[in-house]
Amino acid sequence: MSCKHQLLAFVSLLETNKPYLVNCVRIPALQSLLLFSRSIDTNGDCSRLVADGWLELQLADSESAVRLLATSLRLRVHWESALDRQLARQAQRRKLEQEEDMGSPAVSPQEVAALSRELLQFMVAKVPYRLRRLTGLEAQNLYVGPQTITTAPSLPGLFGNSTLSPHPTKGGYAVSDYLTYNCLTSDTDLYSDCLRSFWTCPHCGLHMPFTPLERIAHENTCPEAPGDDPGSEEAAPAPPQKTSALQRPYHCQVCGQDFHFTPTEVLRHRRQHV
Ligand SMILES: [Zn+2]
Ligand SMILES: [Zn+2]
Repeated sequence: MSCKHQLLAFVSLLETNKPYLVNCVRIPALQSLLLFSRSIDTNGDCSRLVADGWLELQLADSESAVRLLATSLRLRVHWESALDRQLARQAQRRKLEQEEDMGSPAVSPQEVAALSRELLQFMVAKVPYRLRRLTGLEAQNLYVGPQTITTAPSLPGLFGNSTLSPHPTKGGYAVSDYLTYNCLTSDTDLYSDCLRSFWTCPHCGLHMPFTPLERIAHENTCPEAPGDDPGSEEAAPAPPQKTSALQRPYHCQVCGQDFHFTPTEVLRHRRQHV
């Protein structure tokens, strides 16, 4: 168990006569897999995850596993929507053959800053886990398969607002296009997931028997819980001129002014003088 497993990521593809993968960096394994895998499958309490059908992650604590999963779901939705808007804007601009900026950007700088901050916070989360590659046999017998009796688990809010629908081939429940909940076969006993113990909600004082997952689901939806309302945080005034790591001092020869620019900003500025 460790929270420091790493994977290698290749940042760019260089094509000469042959394609080369270049700019190799080390990235934290768990968080990167949650953000970039095409498929994530979980067991009943989410302590066991399988990424893309071949890498197994075993987490010590199912509560932090559920929280990380829920956060990664939210981040992926947010990130994808920001990229979509940016690409749509780019396509539109190309169609109109417009060089000039069309007013406000598709994704506001505040939104980019907030998303970057959330991604960084997510990346530094310290959760101990084991990482290993599944054997061929294990990979073949990964899923419980479609179930005849599908009682939708009453776990509102376990993964944010996502609704759970039975997965047609893997079994379990599809939470999003990549996340399937409770579809992994396991050799642990079947009862631990449904064992309830008394628990009192620290926010609303509700006292009743809960399974671990019901407890997390309640905490996420508890009406009395201190809302970490994302709106209020984003509304807070951003520190003025938060400098990007890519910004460098730049002196323009043409207009004689000094700036702090990222490489793209330099190009944009130079274009003004053409
Ligand atoms: Zn409560
Ligand atoms: Zn200039």
